[in-house]
Amino acid sequence: MKIAYDFHIHTAASPCADDYMSPNNIINMAKLNGLQAIAITDHNTCANCEVVMQLGEQNDLLVIPGMEIECMEEFHCIALFKDIKTARQIEDYVMSHMPQIKNRVDIFGHQHILNKEDDVVGEIERLLLTATGIPAEHLFKAVREVGGVIYPAHIDRKSYSIISNLGFIPDELGIHMIELSKSALIHEYVQKYKGFTIMQSSDAHYLQDILQQESFLDIPSICIADLFNHLIQ
Ligand SMILES: [Zn+2]
Ligand SMILES: [Zn+2]
Repeated sequence: MKIAYDFHIHTAASPCADDYMSPNNIINMAKLNGLQAIAITDHNTCANCEVVMQLGEQNDLLVIPGMEIECMEEFHCIALFKDIKTARQIEDYVMSHMPQIKNRVDIFGHQHILNKEDDVVGEIERLLLTATGIPAEHLFKAVREVGGVIYPAHIDRKSYSIISNLGFIPDELGIHMIELSKSALIHEYVQKYKGFTIMQSSDAHYLQDILQQESFLDIPSICIADLFNHLIQ
């Protein structure tokens, strides 16, 4: 079956995302937009994933725990996980390789942890908007080892993308999937990235950015197992 997805959505845990990116607001907007599956991908954290997953279950929307991780080479990667446990494992690994810089709310914005009622129940003190000290090769290996999927984010962008920073996709990373940002014209990339699965997601920092029915996947049924079988091949 064909499902409409958006696998790059930030919550209010990301300093650069709007404070209105709360679990209920995201679920409601995704439902309103007719999506069947979303992924929560905050910068270097999965702090709000579990609560959005729980709400997704109640609302018949598949929510994949994920993260947008910045590797040592300073490009962004989307990592998707089969469950919250493996997401947390990689979050620990990421956190242990991040500089101890305190977030400046006045400059970067809040890093809110929220509950199922959208109440702010905590604030992440360490600045999340930084590169980790993890080389891409190690990061890709670590995510795959826990059964996750990882691919370079918004490769069409002029900053924080694998192409802007390295100029090409190194073979040794074993990449078979890439992400284009919402504004990219997919037909301009199909020929150049023949052999790659092209994902296109919103990178939503505001509710209105979340995709409508624009990107689709064909999977047997809407569940994490079928989705990962599709993505991992
Ligand atoms: Zn990014
Ligand atoms: Zn992003």
